[in-house]
Formats: sequence, C-alpha cells, structure tokens
Amino acid sequence: MNTTKIGWIGLGNMGIPMATQLIEAGYEVTAYNRSKAKEGTLKEIGALLAETPKNLLVQTDVVFVMVSDDAAIEAIFNGTNGILSAMVSGKTIINMSTVSPSISRQMAAACTAKGHHYLDAPVSGSVKQAETGQLVIMVGGDELAFNKVKPILEKLGKLAMRVGDTGAGNNAKLAINSLLALYAQGLAETVVFANAQGIKTEDLLSLINNAAIGNIFTKIKGDAIIADQYQAAFALKHIVKDLNLAKAEGISSPLAKTALQTFESASVRYGEEDIIAVIKEVKVD
Ligand code: NAP
Repeated sequence: MNTTKIGWIGLGNMGIPMATQLIEAGYEVTAYNRSKAKEGTLKEIGALLAETPKNLLVQTDVVFVMVSDDAAIEAIFNGTNGILSAMVSGKTIINMSTVSPSISRQMAAACTAKGHHYLDAPVSGSVKQAETGQLVIMVGGDELAFNKVKPILEKLGKLAMRVGDTGAGNNAKLAINSLLALYAQGLAETVVFANAQGIKTEDLLSLINNAAIGNIFTKIKGDAIIADQYQAAFALKHIVKDLNLAKAEGISSPLAKTALQTFESASVRYGEEDIIAVIKEVKVD
C-alpha cells in the first residue's frame, strides 16, 4: 500500500477509469462526485467516499480534480463545502480537467493563499488510454510540487511532462485539442466524400490505417464510424468548450474557426454523443 492518501473529485467517463488505476496501484483513494449514483462503481473496488469536496481535502494529501469545465471547477473549489473552505493547508491539488488557463491562475492563487500547491495537469487520450494508464499528461505549475507527485501521475499516464508555470498545461491541452477537432472533422469529411464516390467505409479505413496518415485516432474513430456507434468516449459538447477556450486564448486560424462553427452546429443535435458523431453533421443528404 502506498502511504500517500489520494482524493479523487469527478467520476465521469475519464474520472472513473483514472481513479481505478490509482486503486489498482495500491493507493488509498477517497472519492467524491456531485451525483452520488456514480460513486458506487468506485466503492465496489475499495474506494472510500467523502460527503463533500471540503471533507475530501481534509482526509487526503493529494487531490485530483477531473470535472467538465470552468463552472464545475468554480463549484468544486469555491462552492458551499468546496475544497477552499477546508481549514487545512499543505495539500497538493491537481486539476486534470480541460479548463481555461485563467481559471487555473485564479485557483492557483487561492490555493497558495491557503498554503496548498496547485498544478494544472490536463490529459491527452480518452477512455481507452485512461483504462490502461496510457494517458499523456501536460503540467503547469511549481517544479518541486510536480516532481513530488510525478510518480503518482506516472500511474495514470505513459508521459507526465511539465511544460511551464501555472496555466501552461491548459494552454498545451487547448493546442492539442484544436488538432483533435481538425482530425475529427477531417476524418468525417473524408469518409463522406469517399462514400459519395462509391467507396465503402471499411475499405477506405483499411487504406487510411495502413497508410502514413493512419493513427490511433483514425483506428478507434474509424471503428466507431463502421459500427455506426457514437456513444461518448469524449463527448462532442466538450470539444465545443475546448475550441471556445482556445479562441479566448487567441487562436484564430482558418481551420480552427471553421471547426468551431461545425462543432457548435453539430452540438445542437449530437452534443452528448462522441466527437466523431460530427460525421452526421457533415453528411450531405
Ligand atoms: P463527463 O463524463 O462529462 O464527466 C464530467 C464530470 O464533471 C462528472 O463527474 C460531473 O458530475 C462533473 N461536473 C460537471 N459539472 C459539475 C459541477 N457544476 N459541479 C460538480 N461537478 C460537476 O466528462 P469526462 O469525459 O470525464 O471529462 C472530464 C474532463 O476531462 C473534461 O474537462 C474533458 O474535456 C476532459 N477530457 C475528456 C476526455 C475524454 O475522452 N472523455 C479526454 C481528455 C480530456 P456529475 O456526474 O454529477 O454530472
């Protein structure tokens, strides 16, 4: 058993498999989720539960936060019984959610004032990589604090890299997700075009996946297109959030602008489905 007590806030598509990795690595994990139904899965495999984020911070040493967006971070940190209301100090809080660099800077300042360390540590990879500890983790914040928790991060990812001060992890993630949006829309449009020329999706995907332009993304999302199965691993609504965050940080390149328009429009009908459900949006009837 590893002696560092871990807290885990946010048991969504990513939070459950990530927290599970830490339990399997021998850590004592205390979990909290806003809606209680999702806590059952973790309890069954040995997690302790905390009633509130505040209680969770008191009971643990290193707290991971994996929630949707800036509003969720605001609620977890500053809400009633949020982590910043706990009368303790010296904890390390690692925010792995994809959120804005500015909310990281706000929360880092508030954590420092309370005597805690704050790291932004968003991840690249989806549910499959979370389930196997193969995420790529990009970190912003104090180097000493990062080095202390690096061995824990390495249970979650195949790479944990510090890229700069507070907010740098968030900026790196927004850059990567801009490319993700372009990949998704590009793959969708390519399949739609080939189908219109009479080429079967399976055949096209075999060609792509054996060619230099094939990658893990085209394999996984290609399989989803072939199966016509769009249950969210990475919900389409989240890429709209990320493209808007990137826009707020100043991205205004031609492809990023077009992708934001496409995904905003797709989100109206397919927001809860996977990102590659964008293919239904770009299909020309
Ligand atoms: P998800 O399945 O939608 O889960 C969202 C989590 O945030 C849930 O635990 C939810 O609680 C919580 N939450 C939302 N609003 C809240 C609020 N106001 N107060 C408290 N908790 C709140 O999301 P996910 O796919 O796990 O993604 C989590 C983060 O990782 C997002 O920032 C996403 O962009 C990023 N990410 C996702 C993927 C992926 O492939 N899924 C990959 C890389 C990064 P409830 O259960 O109560 O709703």
